[in-house]
This record gives sequence, structure tokens and C-alpha cells, in this order.
Amino acid sequence: MRGEEVIYLDAHASTAPDPLVINTMMPFFTSHYANGNHTMGWRSSSAIERARFHTSNLLGCYPSEIFFTSGATESINIALWGLTRSAARKKNQIISQPTEHPAVLNCLNELANQGFDIQFLKIDQSGVVDLDDLKSRLSDQTLLVAIMMVNNEVGTIQPIEEIGTLCEKAETTFFCDLTQGIGWQSVNIKELKVDLACLSGHKFYGPRGVGAIYKSKLLKAPFKPLLFGGGQERGIRPGTHNTPGIVGFGKACELAQENYLSLCSRMTLLRDRLLAKIRKGAGEVFIHGSLVNRHPGNLNISIPGIKGDELQSALSNIIFSTSSACSSSSTQPSHVLQSLGLNKEKLDGAMRFGICKYNTTEEIDLAARLLCRKVQQIRS
Ligand code: PLP
Repeated sequence: MRGEEVIYLDAHASTAPDPLVINTMMPFFTSHYANGNHTMGWRSSSAIERARFHTSNLLGCYPSEIFFTSGATESINIALWGLTRSAARKKNQIISQPTEHPAVLNCLNELANQGFDIQFLKIDQSGVVDLDDLKSRLSDQTLLVAIMMVNNEVGTIQPIEEIGTLCEKAETTFFCDLTQGIGWQSVNIKELKVDLACLSGHKFYGPRGVGAIYKSKLLKAPFKPLLFGGGQERGIRPGTHNTPGIVGFGKACELAQENYLSLCSRMTLLRDRLLAKIRKGAGEVFIHGSLVNRHPGNLNISIPGIKGDELQSALSNIIFSTSSACSSSSTQPSHVLQSLGLNKEKLDGAMRFGICKYNTTEEIDLAARLLCRKVQQIRS
């Protein structure tokens, strides 16, 4: 972890930008700040196109299918409103699932208010969607299926390729929130048969406030932009480019492509080590979600008789989350954990640890030691 006094274990909320990302961005604040049709502006636009190339390379798509935005929330809104606002739209049904991020759920809520028929799939105890349920709901009225690749609280990985194949057969648009699925695995968006997807820079060592939307060239459904302006990003997301952010995002994509394999195995080792040490020092541990098909850096647990918030405030130098970071202003129990059917004790006890590439074995050991010591103190 970078930053001396704390052990940062909240990577699903945000990751620190890689120093190479920061170095790549710096000249675009200081000297290459222009954005016009002249030599200085051309330097910025060619850097943006390089970033688009790295992003498309990471997803296995064409550069022209990538549009830069301010992050996943904006990309989600562009995708969902883009499909539903078009006057040429004929279908009315949207299928999703209950553990989506609030950026998706709150859009769907608003779409329900506008008369769309929103349906949520059944999920199992680890949050995986029921494919038979999807099959039975898909119809010629299905405008959109919106299912995330990886859950941000319990790390559950959805069967995206199977979902994509079903959507293709049903001639339905498939939107996939890729936000937590980038940086530790290889993603081939074409093989997954995804039509629309979103990414966010700060979840994989890029800068905050920049992201992208993938929109397949083959998307047949009519699509209407949400914002209107100067035509940047071919009208899908107009507004002056955030050049330093986009350049940093592109660098993060390039690094993710180079490093995902080694990162995945490192994160798995550290995550499993953390769990083993907590089990050894604190006894019984409930794991929320399944350890199979899970983000390699995610651990979401509760310890019998221990409240997550209590442990969190007693361990101020270990940074972890007791609910989704994106809804940290909320005092409500997590909608994700509730959807998995957790009882009150587990909901109150839930702690999410998110391991990133900067974490070391020493940090994991120290975090587990301090945590177990505190658990014993609370118990006694
Ligand atoms: N989707 C998922 C799965 C997320 O985890 C998050 C943020 O935590 C978002 C969307 C929203 O991302 P952003 O804050 O970049 O808009």
C-alpha cells in the first residue's frame, strides 16, 4: 500500500493511480493543455486517440466503439437512457438483477416510473443469476438486459458469455457493467456478446472522474444521446475532453493489459492468506457469497458476535468497508447482502476487504493480527 500509516484494503471503492499513470498525465496539465484545431490541439487529440486504442485493445474491440465519459455512473446513464429515450423504440421490457450497482438500480427505478416493465431475475445465495429464469423472461418485448460482470460488494462473477448468447438469440441489447471486472482478468467483449458496457478509471489504478462506454458497432437498437453539445466523442458524450484524465485512463488500460495475469494470482494469494489468518485468530467466519467465481481481491465476511462498524471504528488504521463505498452515505443495510438473504447478525457484521496490487504480505499479516486482537478484546 502507498501511504505509510494505513493499510488500505478498500480497492473496490477506489484504487490509487499507478505512478506511471500520473507521469503520463502530467504533461497534459502543464504543457499540452490545448484543445483546438492547431498543432498544440493535435497533440492532445492524438493522445486521446492513443488512449482509445489502449482501451479498445483491453476489451478486444474497435477504437471507434469506445467513447470517453466521466466514469461508470455517466456511462450507465448514457447507455440506459440512450436506449430508452429513442422515439423509434418499440419494446418496453427491461431485465436486470437485484445486486446491480445503485447507478443501474436508480436508473431502472426512474424508468419504472416512466412506465417501463422492469423485471429482476432470481439469484442464488452467492448472487449468481438464474439463467433459466432469464430464458423464460426473454421475449420480443425485451428491450434490454442489464447485468453486471462482477459485484462490487461480494465479488460475484456473473456468467456473462451465457447471458450474452441468450440475448443475441433473443435479439435483445445486452448492457454489462464492467466496472469491477477490469485489471485482473482478460475481457474479450466480442466473445461475451456484450452490446454496451461501462468502465471507470479509478477502479483499476487510473484517475478518478474518467471512464468509458463501449457501444458495439453492431448495436441495432435505436440510440439517442443524453447530452447535446459540441459533438465530441461523436455526439455520444459531447463536452471538452478531460485530456489528462483520458490519457491516464488509456495508460491504466495499457498497464491492465500487461499485468492482469500476475495481478490476479497475487491478489488471490493475499485474499486467501487474509481469510486463513482471520479464521485462525478469530475462529468461525461467515463468508458472504461464494469463494468460487469471485473477484480475486474480494473478501466479504462477518465474524459471529462482532459488528462491522464497531471493528471498523476501533481499527482506524485499517481501511475497509462495512457497506458499498458508493452508498457509504447510507445507513441502510446493503441491498446486495439483503438480496443474498443474510440475517441481521451477518448484515450488521459484514466487512468488505478489497485487495489491490500495492498490498504486501506483511500488510495482510499485520491487518489480520490487529483485527483478530480487536475481536478478542471485544469478546472479552
Ligand atoms: N458500477 C460498479 C459495479 C461500481 O462498483 C461503481 C463504483 O463503485 C460504479 C458502477 C460507479 O462508478 P463511478 O463512481 O466511477 O461512477
